[in-house]
Amino acid sequence: MSTFPACPKCNSEYTYEDSLLFICPECAHEWAKIPDVVDSHEAVVKDSNGVILADGDDITVIKDLKVKGTSSVIKVGTKVKGIRLVEGDHNIDCKVPGIGAMQLKSEFVKKIL
Ligand SMILES: [Zn+2]
Repeated sequence: MSTFPACPKCNSEYTYEDSLLFICPECAHEWAKIPDVVDSHEAVVKDSNGVILADGDDITVIKDLKVKGTSSVIKVGTKVKGIRLVEGDHNIDCKVPGIGAMQLKSEFVKKIL
């Protein structure tokens, strides 16, 4: 069960949601939903274990990854230092030793704790 925020106008607790809005049945006030993630502009990136990644983290690759357009393969266990998080399908920007700058998917890496 999710609880909805009280109406900012009349403080009623009987609010409900309607797609992108919250609606107060008592004073008919409608307001936009506020995402429940505090840092909404920055998507949280997690590794294969669900550990949150941040800029500057070191990771290891958990499976062999083919490098698009080349015959190179990033081997499982490859350590990559100082990742940078970016937006998109491949959400980690990094420099892989022996391969060069490229982007990885966070689901194929593990943070070095
Ligand atoms: Zn209200």
